[in-house]
Amino acid sequence: LRLGSATTSHDTDKLLGGLLSADGFDDERSCHSRFQSARYRRNAGKRPSPYLVSKLRQHEALQRRCGPGTDAYSNALEQLGSGKMQSYDGGECRYLVSISYSYQGLGNRILAATSAFLYAVLTGRVLLVDPSNHMGELFCEPFPNATWLLPPDSFPLKGYTNFSVETAESYGNMLKNNKIIKTDDAARMPPPAFVYIHLNHDASGGLDKLFFCDEDQRALRDIQWLLMRTDNYIVPGLFLLTGFQEELGMLFPEPDTVFHHLGRYLLHPNNHVWALVTRYYDAYLATARQRVGIQVRVFGADRESPELLKQITSCTRKENLLPELLTAAEPETANAVPAAARGQSKAVLVTSLKSWYYEKLKSMYWEQGTVTGEAVGVHQPSHEEYQRFRAKSHDTRAWAEMYLLSLTDVLVTTGASTFGYVAQGLGGLTPWVMYKPPANGSVVADPPCGRGVSMEPCFHDPPAYDCKTKKWADTGKIVPHVQHCEDVSWGLKLV
Ligand code: GDP
Repeated sequence: LRLGSATTSHDTDKLLGGLLSADGFDDERSCHSRFQSARYRRNAGKRPSPYLVSKLRQHEALQRRCGPGTDAYSNALEQLGSGKMQSYDGGECRYLVSISYSYQGLGNRILAATSAFLYAVLTGRVLLVDPSNHMGELFCEPFPNATWLLPPDSFPLKGYTNFSVETAESYGNMLKNNKIIKTDDAARMPPPAFVYIHLNHDASGGLDKLFFCDEDQRALRDIQWLLMRTDNYIVPGLFLLTGFQEELGMLFPEPDTVFHHLGRYLLHPNNHVWALVTRYYDAYLATARQRVGIQVRVFGADRESPELLKQITSCTRKENLLPELLTAAEPETANAVPAAARGQSKAVLVTSLKSWYYEKLKSMYWEQGTVTGEAVGVHQPSHEEYQRFRAKSHDTRAWAEMYLLSLTDVLVTTGASTFGYVAQGLGGLTPWVMYKPPANGSVVADPPCGRGVSMEPCFHDPPAYDCKTKKWADTGKIVPHVQHCEDVSWGLKLV
């Protein structure tokens, strides 16, 4: 494998500082990315805390003890199928099923599953990701000798993938209908067999968002099966819960590294995606002195926007990410530049549904020289034109491109895009974020971009309720490291 010139001691740390388990994956061939990713990352990233490492090992053991294929799992399915309210028997196997609408983009689904994983770890539940998320087709299994996928055929709740805010068993509806009581009397009431928690962006008005309150967490604790739907990165909301704060502090002494660590732990491209990533990297990015990622999130029906192109070039010039172009009046000085400088190059990786921005950037750096004499190569792996749903090859390319962006040295993202969030978090990169220009499409955003406040994703639909005062509140002011996002003003992110 080639890495360009520099190799660091971290390159050999293929288990990412203990984040990945050394045991249980005897056959490296079944998932190359697990063992090779460190060799492709110049930025070794942050080191996980020893506490996080030991907690992950414990969680893996829990998935093995209680997951599909075990007696404990068969018993738990039987209980769920019986549908009866049940007294909690203190058994250790409790479950969290993570579901997402299949029409959500891949970035959203990745953030949802990663958030669900953290909640499962915090609450000692087995995580099972519903396969209608199509996660199984893109990722390797993260847990040694255990699965993170729900076997759908034996799952007794029919129609669970269509559960919505209307579902009678949603947490909000069960509260409303007194099926769950949060007072001390609750101890005498047997808990329901399962509860569905609807934390999708359309949950705004419902009571499901009380999920982010401590007393509600106590009410949910003894329910054996929780099903959770979200399309969001709910992690900042978990940091608002007093009951989790101490544990989260030990797991993540640096709070702005949650997705960075959990993403690198969970999200391993399967061999097909990994082949796309590494072939592209080796062909276009490996030998460059510096790799610059530019994520241009546009939508299928968007026109080609000269203003957006200007925003991109203003951002990269202002922040010194790409060299200035010589103006037409200036003589070509390339030959006067010392040979050493001429040999150095920058590789720009553009990702977008459209090819227009890439074509323009590429021509610019071909038709004009740069003041530094550097050669700038511009590359874009695909242009899918429209966002598609339930299309495997489309998701495959999206995942490969998110991952390639995460291998760059500096990253420019489009604000509010979960696609960009995944790349920045995996890469350990604090991006330059291109904000949306004012609604009038004919102006260039000013400033064109700004440095993100952290590498964490933004929680776009956070609770706006203070559980202690029981009033609407600014949840960006409750704990110091949960603040509003730079790209979505009402969102919350860890800093
Ligand atoms: P978000 O909508 O920007 O938050 O990102 P998502 O990943 O959730 O949804 C956008 C979806 O559109 C992606 O998952 C892809 O399917 C597709 N898409 C958007 N931008 C790109 C791109 O640059 N490359 C590829 N291959 N697909 C993209």
